[in-house]
Amino acid sequence: MTSLKSLEVWFVTGSQHLYGEETLKQVAAHSKTIVASLDDAPQIPVTVVYKPTVKTTEEIYQVCMEANANPKCIGIIAWMHTFSPAKMWIAGLKILQKPLCHFHTQFNRDIPWAEIDMDFMNLNQSAHGDREFGFIMSRMRLRRKVVVGHWQDAAVLASIGGWTRAAAGWHDWQGAKFVRFGDNMRYVAVTEGDKVEAEIKFGYSVNTHGVGDLVKLIKEVADADLQKLLSEYEDSYQIESSLKKDKEKYQSLVEAARIELGLKYFLEQGNYKGFTDTFEDLHGMLQLPGIGAQRMMAAGYGFAGEGDWKTAALVRAMKVMGTGLPGGNSFMEDYTYHFDPANSLVLGSHMLEICPSIASGKPFCEVHPLGIGGKADPARLVFNAAAGPALNASIIDMGNRFRMLINEVVALAPIQGLPKLPVARVLWKPYPDMQTGCAAWILAGGAHHTGYSQNLSTEQMEDFSDMAGIECVVIDKDTRLRELKNQLRWSDAAYR
Ligand code: MN
Repeated sequence: MTSLKSLEVWFVTGSQHLYGEETLKQVAAHSKTIVASLDDAPQIPVTVVYKPTVKTTEEIYQVCMEANANPKCIGIIAWMHTFSPAKMWIAGLKILQKPLCHFHTQFNRDIPWAEIDMDFMNLNQSAHGDREFGFIMSRMRLRRKVVVGHWQDAAVLASIGGWTRAAAGWHDWQGAKFVRFGDNMRYVAVTEGDKVEAEIKFGYSVNTHGVGDLVKLIKEVADADLQKLLSEYEDSYQIESSLKKDKEKYQSLVEAARIELGLKYFLEQGNYKGFTDTFEDLHGMLQLPGIGAQRMMAAGYGFAGEGDWKTAALVRAMKVMGTGLPGGNSFMEDYTYHFDPANSLVLGSHMLEICPSIASGKPFCEVHPLGIGGKADPARLVFNAAAGPALNASIIDMGNRFRMLINEVVALAPIQGLPKLPVARVLWKPYPDMQTGCAAWILAGGAHHTGYSQNLSTEQMEDFSDMAGIECVVIDKDTRLRELKNQLRWSDAAYR
């Protein structure tokens, strides 16, 4: 995944026949100008496609049908340049299955004070035309994005671009397959959930394979592929000296590479977009996948440990949403705390599997004992994550609904060396502060597993939640516990 340009959003302008041909020609010309500008905007990573102005119930229904059926179309941007009576939109909106962004803009930025006349007023009506359109979507209880502002404004373009990224992630989930090697980590609650409901709600399926099916492919790894991958390790990472060819731990690295290739074969052959495994079910494998899971994530696959399929799917969606942006997205876990009152921090990590897309500098490749699982010492990439703004996102199953929980954080460079810590790690401060951020997360039932992002915004994750039609709870600079507790209570009532 290097570009989202092969995906399309369709720009649909609403009007009616009331104004006559001359006005409709101007509407079309203006829409084409706006589409060309959006399509060129660096903030918008997908292709923006002009669609002819829709003026009747039938034309609206037709474009919605076509959007549903077109595999490249990931959503619609709708704009009412003139007044488009919104009962005409009911039939189309009822069947539309793609996300919709209501772009509340107008062609001219400024009022032409000296020239404005009734012709101008007849043409430039979005200030009220878009309200008519907004009403029908609210009346139909449809979730959508509303972006307000002039079409050349950089912040407006960024907001539309962010929405297209969310739409790309959502599109990627439809029909996606995730494989769960083994089951859930025994007795763990938050990684469980209703996979049938998830498939209905989210569009992706999760199915299991006994780890033996993977082991079979690991055993069949071709020697040429193995040698090629080992030299790729050599080129990409700082390899610990005992892992060099013919040194004492070299065979551990060879085995890790074999596991990575088995995983790669399995995911490619099954057309999977991500996977989970569990250290409790590794029969026939010598190591828990470490570097293999890390590198599969870096290649764009979703992953989470201990059978956590919801987080694996979320990590995948976040990777698609972040396509082409600097920074990365990774599976993450809040691991341990630094409770210095002057500088409270969370240390995020996992047993092994943090994605090197978030690394600062060239990762080290090392082999160390794991301490649990009873397998051989696994190879892993060890690094510090880059400093800067980031977020953690988690999807949990509340029984009667899914909840997306987002916590904005700021990552810091390590304040001291961590010479004995043999795993990749991130240090962050949660917003609004350590006490409130952690308490809010726990009150909202957020998982210990998350998708950690350096390049996605809360707004994008919220857009994504709206596309999925799920609850979205945000913990940010403005979070206050008393209000959050009420929000959670009201939300329970709303979803009852
Ligand atoms: Mn875990």
